[in-house]
Amino acid sequence: MTETVDAPAATRIPHWIGGRRVEGGSGRSGPVYNPASGRQTGAVDFATAEEVDAAVQAAKKAFPAWREISLAKRAELFFRVRELLHARRQELAEIMVREHGKVLSDAVGEVTRGLEVVEYCCGIPQLIKGEHSEQVSTGLDVYSIRQPLGVVAGITPFNFPAMVPMWMWAPAIASGNCFVLKPSEKDPSASLWVAELLAEAGLPEGVFNVIMGDRVAVDALLEHPDVAAISFVGSTPIARHVYEKATASGKRCQALGGAKNHMIVLPDADVAAAADAAVSAGYGSAGERCMAVSVVVAVGDVAQPLVDAIRDRIPKVKVGDGMDPSSEMGPLITQEHRDRVASYVENAPAEGATVVVDGREGVPGEGFFLNPSLLDGVTPEMKAYVDEIFGPVLGVTRVATYEEAVRLVNESPYGNGVAIFTRDGGAARQFQFDVEAGMVGINVPIPVPVAYYSFGGWKSSLFGDRHVYGPEAIDFYTRGKVVTSRWPDPATSKIDLGFPQTR
Ligand code: NAD
Repeated sequence: MTETVDAPAATRIPHWIGGRRVEGGSGRSGPVYNPASGRQTGAVDFATAEEVDAAVQAAKKAFPAWREISLAKRAELFFRVRELLHARRQELAEIMVREHGKVLSDAVGEVTRGLEVVEYCCGIPQLIKGEHSEQVSTGLDVYSIRQPLGVVAGITPFNFPAMVPMWMWAPAIASGNCFVLKPSEKDPSASLWVAELLAEAGLPEGVFNVIMGDRVAVDALLEHPDVAAISFVGSTPIARHVYEKATASGKRCQALGGAKNHMIVLPDADVAAAADAAVSAGYGSAGERCMAVSVVVAVGDVAQPLVDAIRDRIPKVKVGDGMDPSSEMGPLITQEHRDRVASYVENAPAEGATVVVDGREGVPGEGFFLNPSLLDGVTPEMKAYVDEIFGPVLGVTRVATYEEAVRLVNESPYGNGVAIFTRDGGAARQFQFDVEAGMVGINVPIPVPVAYYSFGGWKSSLFGDRHVYGPEAIDFYTRGKVVTSRWPDPATSKIDLGFPQTR
């Protein structure tokens, strides 16, 4: 068992409401660990419904002034935020390494991808532009405008403590909304750090608030009459709950869920390149990515050489403390999660799969570590195939044909990311046409779209009809209004009770 110690008062992690830190009064809190040491390093306050209301009221109070701020000033502020974040990205990355466990280079990469969304939002004057049609009828013009919703909220998972919140707060605030963030209680400090940075950049108080907590805080946001929209990223059961509850109380909602991403390797693929990709995408961030490759589907006679090539690469993956520059893979988020992930390796033989590499062996240090594992002969009935393991356990499923491989993907309840490895352009093009998933990689194992496209899966990987960031985010966080306008000459005015027609 991992030893835990009570966090000293200095490491209490409070809320951020109305531009300042606010300590919670519920008496409830959650432990925050350094996963590399297994020790508790902090205690995060858990909000009551009243504290959630205080954050929403702060946002509501800030909204009238914020929506009046000119687009020029909003863009200027976003450029300042971008500069500050860029200059201090290492600091933010280190906070994430200490609470999440991912290695420093990966954490810097996370901030960089999040920053791309902030950079996209610097172009808000262009992004929020409407359309104008002159003289749609004699003396009549029509134009469309997009206006903010008011107070909107984001609820985020542990695995990207900086980037996923940026997917939400950046387009929401740039579009003129005020924002309440409920980050994961497992690694909450990055959000508090960002709140302080936004204040330093000049964001008015109340425009960005952070409420710490668990399901009490989430449910309070979902039920709050002054919250107009909810963005959620997390596991599928909670995404479904959030979507149902938010929409039942009349809110706009986008709820991104879990995944089980397949990587199909056709017989003509370059085996070495495919094995490199499988190891990178399967074990990067210890498999705790919604876009991680979880199942390698080996088609035909590529299977054995591919399994051998992946097996040969695994011992070279350096597992260790994320602050050690030589580490390539860190620990898992908690002891409980580590044990759950390890159970899939333990149960694999009983399910009929072969454990090619057992990651439970030779684990470094005291923290929540698990080395990479490789399972072969994984079939669709096995739990190791069905469940989102969310850890460094890669399964190989062997099939005879391309059609069988595509059927596997399309029968999965998830549809987040998928990749195909082949040298055949025609096969790749057919795959892109056939496959039921929101994000497709062709010889690219983790096809996370760049910031000016939107991110989202299909089926149980997304509830709602708007993807996050990119153009769809601007749509999600705004309401359209169409204005029909005439400036008549009073001399030509007359009564006409007929239905308006164009002339
Ligand atoms: P999670 O669903 O446990 O938690 C997500 C958020 O929901 C957290 O803020 C948490 O406090 C809150 N929450 C947890 N239980 C709740 C409950 N019963 N009621 C209300 N709120 C609750 O997810 P996680 O473990 O933090 O993150 C990992 C999951 O997120 C994986 O399933 C992963 O695939 C998914 N994820 C998906 C994407 C995507 O883009 N589709 C991106 C990142 C992570």
